[in-house]
This record gives sequence, C-alpha cells and structure tokens, in this order.
Amino acid sequence: MSDIINLLPDSVANQIAAGEVVQRPASVVKELLENSIDAGASSIALNVFDAGKAGIQVVDNGQGMSGTDARLCFERHATSKIHDSRDLDAIATMGFRGEALASIAAVAEVELITRRAEDDMGTRVQLAASRVTDHSPCAAPVGTTLFVRNLFFNVPARLRFLKSLSIELKHVVNEFQRVALANPQVAMRLSHDDAVLYDLRVANRRERILDIFGPRLEKHLLPVEVHTDLVDIEGFIGSPKVAKRRAGEQFLFVNARYMRNPAFNRAIYSAFEKLIAADFMPIFFMFFTVDPSTIDVNIHPQKTEIKFENDRVIWQLLNSGVRRVLGQYAGVPQIDFDAPPLTSEGFFPPSSFFSLTEQEYVQSASVLPEGSQNFISPAANIGAAAPQRVVPSHFNSFSPGASFEPPAAASSVCQIANRYVVTPLGSGLAIVDQHRAHARVLYEKIRAAQSQEHLSQRLALPISLSLTAAQRVAVPAFMDAAAKIGFSVDCPDETTLRVSAMPLWLEVERCADVVAGMLESDDSCEVSATGEQRDNYLQRAAFAAAIRRGQPLPEPQMQALLLALFACQAPAIAPDGAPTYVLLNEEKIKELFAALRLKG
Ligand code: ADP
Ligand code: MG
Repeated sequence: MSDIINLLPDSVANQIAAGEVVQRPASVVKELLENSIDAGASSIALNVFDAGKAGIQVVDNGQGMSGTDARLCFERHATSKIHDSRDLDAIATMGFRGEALASIAAVAEVELITRRAEDDMGTRVQLAASRVTDHSPCAAPVGTTLFVRNLFFNVPARLRFLKSLSIELKHVVNEFQRVALANPQVAMRLSHDDAVLYDLRVANRRERILDIFGPRLEKHLLPVEVHTDLVDIEGFIGSPKVAKRRAGEQFLFVNARYMRNPAFNRAIYSAFEKLIAADFMPIFFMFFTVDPSTIDVNIHPQKTEIKFENDRVIWQLLNSGVRRVLGQYAGVPQIDFDAPPLTSEGFFPPSSFFSLTEQEYVQSASVLPEGSQNFISPAANIGAAAPQRVVPSHFNSFSPGASFEPPAAASSVCQIANRYVVTPLGSGLAIVDQHRAHARVLYEKIRAAQSQEHLSQRLALPISLSLTAAQRVAVPAFMDAAAKIGFSVDCPDETTLRVSAMPLWLEVERCADVVAGMLESDDSCEVSATGEQRDNYLQRAAFAAAIRRGQPLPEPQMQALLLALFACQAPAIAPDGAPTYVLLNEEKIKELFAALRLKG
C-alpha cells in the first residue's frame, strides 16, 4: 500500500474555517480518540496523567501509518480523509480538517509510535513545539500509540487558564464517555494516574450506556425509535423517575458524532414537560442517522455544533417520538393496575403526575352535594363498585393502537359538573376531563387518518365561513395542512373560506367550528406548513372538535369515550401534554381524608 496522506490545496484549506482546536487536555483526548475510531480500531486505551496536564496517551489497534505518513500527519491540513471540496459534502469520518495533530504538536511534546499490518517495522516520531526531534524505525505492534506530554509547556498563558485537576478530569471523562457511547462496538478503557476508571467491553448501545452509567438506569431506559426517509432516530430516554435537578446525562449524536443542539434538547424537554417538575431535567441518549450531505459539521472547529438542513422536521419527529414513548409509559400502568408485573418497577409514573392540585380538589369537593347520588354517597356506591372489576377486562390487555371496541361490561360512570367523567379504574377512581380525553381520542384518529388514505367525505352543501383579518393571514398555511388531513377548502373571495369536503371523523355540525378553531392562529404566516405546524393543526383540530366542557353526556357516550380513550396510544395525556385524567387511589384518598382532618 502506498502512502495515503494528501496535502489539501489552499482553496479547500480556506473553505475550512480556521479555529482553535486545543483548549484543554480534554480537547486532545477528543481528537486522539476520534483519530483512533477513524483508523478502524476495535480496542482503544486512554491513559491520562494529572488530568491530562502531565500526559495523555492513546493506544489503538487501528490501521496504523506508513513511515512517511507518520511524519506528514503533523503538517497542518494533512489528512487522509478528504481529497477535494466535494468530499466536504459527505463527511463520513470524525476528523477531516487535518489540523488536530498539527495543533497538538504545536503546544506539547508528542511521541508517535505506529505500524501498519503490512509493514515489518514501525515508525517512531517525536516532536516538541512543532519541531521534529526524532523520526526513526522501531519495533511496534500494529496500530498507533500517541503520547502527548506537558501540554502548553510553551504557552504559559494557556496553562494558567486550565482549571483544577478535578474539573479538567471531568472534561476528559466527558469526552471519553461521548466517544464510548457513540462507539459501543469498540472496547474502550480509561485510566487516570494508573487507576482504571472505565473498562468497557464491546457491547450494544443499551449495554454500553449501562456499563458507563451504572445499573441504576437498568429499569429506567425507555427506547425511542423513529424511522423516516430524512432521519433515523434511535436511543433511550430515562423515565421521568430518573430525571435530575442538574443537567446530567444528556447526549445527542448525529452519525456517531456527539453534538450540542439546544433546539433538539428542547424538543425532548417539551415532551417531558408535564411529567417532571419544572426544575428537573430528563436524561437521554439519542442517536440520529442522516445523509451526511444534509448536515454541515464544519461550522465549529470542535465540530460539536452542527447545522441540519431539515432541522424543523427532525425537531418535530424527535418531539413526537419521545412524547409517544412517554405517553405509553404514563398510560399503560394505570390501566394495568392489577395485572401481573409485566412492567418493571420503573414503569410506574411519578405520583405527582396524578395527584390533584388543591384547586382541583376544591372543585371536586364543591360538586359533591349534587353528584353525591351517583358519586361518593357511601351507601349507594362504594359497596357496589368494590368487588366488581368494573373496567372491562380488555383494558388489561391494552395494546398501543388497539381499536375501538364496544363495552365488554357495564362500567359505572357518572359526570361531575358537566365536565368530568368519573369511573372506577383498577383499584381506584379515575376522574377524566371529558374535553381533554376526547381531544386525545380525536388527535390519534386524525393522525392515523393522515398517514393512511385520506378518509374524506364530500359535503352536499359546501360550508362557507367568513374570515376575520387574523384568520385570513393564516389561510395559506392552513390550506396545506388541512388538505393533508382530509379537508377540501378554497377561497372564493378574500374574506370567505369554503369547505367542500371534510374528514370522516368529523360531524358536519362541528365542521365550521373545527375549521375556525384550526385557523385560530398566531404563528402560521408562512406559506407552507412544516411538520411542526401541521402537528399543531392536528392538535387544534382535535381540541376544536372535542366534546366541550359543560356539555352533559348521556351514559353510553361516557362509556364510549372511556373505551376510546383507553384504546389510545397515549391515553394519559391530551395532545398538548396536559393530563387527561387523575387517579384517586386508596393512598390518595387516605391523604385527602388526612388533609381534611388537619384543616378541620
Ligand atoms: P484529521 O483527523 O482531520 O484527518 P488529524 O490531524 O487528526 O487530522 O490527523 C491527520 C492524519 O493522521 C489523519 O488523516 C490520519 O491519516 C492520520 N492519523 C492520525 N491518527 C491516527 C491513528 N490513530 N491511526 C492511524 N492514522 C492516524
Ligand atoms: Mg483527527
């Protein structure tokens, strides 16, 4: 094999934004580990001394370098990974700028020992402050060992900026963890001053996470998977139970590269919003795979800030993917209260999620006199409801996406304040917000209809709405989204919207309301609706079409609503994330009694 390193032409070199690569020991660690990954190593050992200030050694069993390359790799813009500017569009390696080793060698003492499998002898190169002090053949195993000593020995100002050993070591560990998480197929070891901190076997992604962060997460990793043409998202979120007060284990990767992306973080936070306390942060490990030509890795010298061509769509996919998983997490167990423990301990929701706020408690208490006949009148009800398992048995075998079924058994239901539907559920009492619950049911219907054919019905008489000025602004974006969920709309003149077909799930009498509700918009001035906006429309359509609060419901309708709700993928939350019901279990009820006694 011939030598493999090219010098980039100046034109390309200039395309690559110049930047400082080496800020602290951890930057060296990152670059060296990434080089070992790029070299195809299946095993990498990182040894740091004094948090990397005194020394950083990386030993890999990768492809190694020729004698010439071993010298050339320390030249600026020396890289084997790209050849011309076109390659910048499809970066498949961690490195490509060809400046890491040059930068490191400029501010430290470096020793490189390397050998390729096809060479009998290896090569040793030594430099200090960019000057080569040795370049000679030597015996060496296949692979590469880089030893970086006395970082910043010739740049005292930089040295002074380094933080305490423990902080620098923390940065080193962070970099190691990122590379290790992205590359579970590589055995990786980290030692500090001869103490082994990690010794990671080859593993799958989940095992690697547990090997790094400990078995405490074992029962709390919920898998997230989204597969589309634009992006594949795979990874894990920690259940709400393991959320932390400080930002801890929050990892995003794209094409096996760690990245910072505050917007994507927010996509995940927002999915968790109603499930964890406001000052808590979820943990997550999310891995995106995209066509490399749709991202720009090159906007930041450390390559951790990455521009996405399809960032808004990906944002939405991530958000709804996490929401879906959380919905199942929060939804399944209350339906399964008495079922055998098919769920692990971690699958139980945080109790705060289902507790009543004081206001809700006062509301429900204040309607007691009227509703007491059906509701908590002890003699009438408690005895009757207790022995019988009133929730139809198929609730137990609930599976995501299960379709609507007729009631299998008569449930006792009642309505409070024309607003809440109350029913025994498992070993407690569910108080269901009829409006939110129905919105959830419709939302899932609309979404399903959207991904199938258009299930649309033509209207014998088109419905005309006159538009307010604000609604007119929203029309162009609305039309696009509306068509996707089965509406046919046009504007015969500037102030009129005409609906000539509407989705099957909608009742004709509600059509005008729903369209008006969807147009109630502040943020949709754009001409085409993005995925995110479209989902917004779905939500609005669902809420606009949902049973209102204040509407009295006959018993069969209440039962149908409950059945449909618990057949949903995420029965516990409305499309906007608000809880659809609260559950009063025995414990909760005892608490209420205790609280009343204290007050009285
Ligand atoms: P880049 O990674 O951007 O190409 P670097 O300065 O990090 O630039 O490395 C320069 C070149 O040195 C790489 O392109 C690669 O050919 C070679 N190299 C560096 N580290 C290793 C290694 N551990 N094993 C094999 N080759 C390496
Ligand atoms: Mg590199």
